[in-house]
Amino acid sequence: MPSGETVVQCSCGFEAAFDRLRDAREALAAHEEAGHDADWDIQQVAGGVEQAGEEAGVCGRPECTNEGSPLYRDDV
Ligand SMILES: [Zn+2]
Repeated sequence: MPSGETVVQCSCGFEAAFDRLRDAREALAAHEEAGHDADWDIQQVAGGVEQAGEEAGVCGRPECTNEGSPLYRDDV
């Protein structure tokens, strides 16, 4: 599943997934303007995994390493 996916559902049976919030909002607005009962569900991205990767300095460059992180190693 792509990260940040937004699923739009409508009472008329319409259902679609959008990678961009703007596209989802336009689809939602179009159905609401037509008098439908539309709603959307924004899938949450697992931000914790991404943050752990940054703190570990995965790319190896000093400017990418967070020295305040408990994952930081000073013996390189
Ligand atoms: Zn609709």
